[in-house]
Amino acid sequence: MEQILEVKNLHVHYGMIHAIKGLDFHVNKGEIVTLIGANGAGKTSTLQTITGLIPHSQGEIIYRGENVSKLPGYKLVSKGLAHVPEGRRVFASLTVYQNLMLGAYTRKNSKEIEESLNMIYHHFPRLLERKNQVAGTLSGGEQQMLAMGRALMSKPEMILLDEPSMGLSPIYVNEIFDIIQKIHESGVTVLLVEQNANKALMIADRAYVLETGNIRLEGKAGDLLSDPQVRAAYLSE
Ligand code: ATP
Repeated sequence: MEQILEVKNLHVHYGMIHAIKGLDFHVNKGEIVTLIGANGAGKTSTLQTITGLIPHSQGEIIYRGENVSKLPGYKLVSKGLAHVPEGRRVFASLTVYQNLMLGAYTRKNSKEIEESLNMIYHHFPRLLERKNQVAGTLSGGEQQMLAMGRALMSKPEMILLDEPSMGLSPIYVNEIFDIIQKIHESGVTVLLVEQNANKALMIADRAYVLETGNIRLEGKAGDLLSDPQVRAAYLSE
């Protein structure tokens, strides 16, 4: 299997806090891989380090065979790696359409941009309905859809999703997970960080369980879903 992303011996410090302590994991092309774990385990820090938002003190990040450890996020976007950060961060005073178009800033071919826009409106009919609404007035779930749609406008080969279900009502959570599966079926590799471990394991191929900056367990998502230790610690029943 071809690896698209490999993280080797990653260490992150925030001042005196050693938040990530030598992480090793990889994602194969075409997979959905999930990082699960309790609050503060280091999931968000890991994604932010991959996309260069925070520096790492040691380790390597290899994307499509290239060491991208020192590359800023916008360069990664043009290489096909998009990040949907925690908390959505849409541009509140711009419309849905304007937010989506900003996601295409690395692209030039207007016909292909138009095709991506149509594909996104197809995945997210609600964004089409609300394309002229300012993003700040969307519901939390709609803002999550917009943040994901904006990332897809860069036509990524791989997408990093940070807690897409955070703060959403159960109906929206189901909708967001359905959409993640559709995005994956359209050929995009997914690295998903989630506190909703149950849902994440249901759609993922493989998973890594993080605990205070280390990988505690890893395996096929289905195996972890039925592991009594994982069920007791991470899955509320
Ligand atoms: P959550 O699910 O709560 O978002 P997480 O698994 O994503 O948690 P991180 O947010 O990556 O965890 O945090 C990992 C550790 O690093 C935590 O102990 C956190 O307090 C610490 N940390 C994160 N950001 C900072 C920061 N800017 N300054 C200092 N410590 C930080």
